[in-house]
Amino acid sequence: MATSSISPPATIAVIGLGQMGLPMAKRLIGAGFTVHGADLAEVARAALTAAGGKAFTGAAEAAAGAAAIITMLPNGRIVRDVLLGDGGIAKALPKGTLIIDMSSSAPTDTTGLAADLAPLGIALIDAPVSGGVRRAVDGSLAIMAGGPQDEVERAHPVLAAMGKSIFATGPIGSGHAMKALNNYVSAAGLVAACEALLVGRQFGLAPETIVDVLNASTGRNNSTEVKMKPFVISGAFNSGFSLALMAKDLRIAADLAGHLGLGIPQIAAVADLWEKARGSLKADADHTEIYRFLADIDANRTATA
Ligand code: NAD
Repeated sequence: MATSSISPPATIAVIGLGQMGLPMAKRLIGAGFTVHGADLAEVARAALTAAGGKAFTGAAEAAAGAAAIITMLPNGRIVRDVLLGDGGIAKALPKGTLIIDMSSSAPTDTTGLAADLAPLGIALIDAPVSGGVRRAVDGSLAIMAGGPQDEVERAHPVLAAMGKSIFATGPIGSGHAMKALNNYVSAAGLVAACEALLVGRQFGLAPETIVDVLNASTGRNNSTEVKMKPFVISGAFNSGFSLALMAKDLRIAADLAGHLGLGIPQIAAVADLWEKARGSLKADADHTEIYRFLADIDANRTATA
């Protein structure tokens, strides 16, 4: 049963201080919350300490005394493990603690997790984010929050410290469903932009011209606006969002469609394409390196023709 909203200087534990978790924790510190964090990586813990938070190796130590626990971990399997696996922290948490899973987890896993936490008196909402590292840093993330309305309201000051557009999407798991669908649309748009770049270049168009024209025309999308020039055409490929994580999100979206009995074609095709790219590129490839994968497919086809 939710009580009043969680406001500064309440203690928030952030489990997972990676590309996204660290800047989100910094936003919470900036808003006046007391922030405890945990991460497996020493470098991540040191960065939180330098930013004014208190870092711990173990999630249990970070969670002690926290009004809310944010998980910002690679996937829902790891979230479940941290909470309910061997040495999981949930059993030791006081009743009424709120867990906010801001990772991009699978919605069907999330509904199961909420059901398993309920007998312990622990509430769960899913509140995944969109906007990437840049918007995590400036606190303008889009946040899609699923779960009981009173719990989403209780979390509102916490979410408002990290995001500008906060949507209550419905029951538990609905935020995670929405996040997977968003990343499907985003990834399909990035593939389309990369393919247009490959074809246009081959025809002799200048890469910058291709992007400028798309951005002034109906082909414009988030990738043409914020990814193609700084991360793809420049050759930097350093957006801060890994290709492996995007491939995971696309598989969640395709599985969701399958789970609902929908045989729509492109969602599965896009998930398969990114899974192949994950298998072919280096493990820590940035998601914008899908361009390299597409370029290599073409190079290999030409070589074997
Ligand atoms: P990341 O790999 O940079 O960070 C994950 C962090 O979790 C790492 O620092 C890792 O050491 C830590 N970790 C892993 N297992 C742990 C455990 N058992 N206990 C404590 N710490 C553990 O990933 P990220 O890019 O920050 O993404 C985090 C989540 O946010 C993912 O679910 C991702 O899909 C989602 N997401 C990422 C972006 C982005 O642009 N990077 C944008 C939106 C959503």
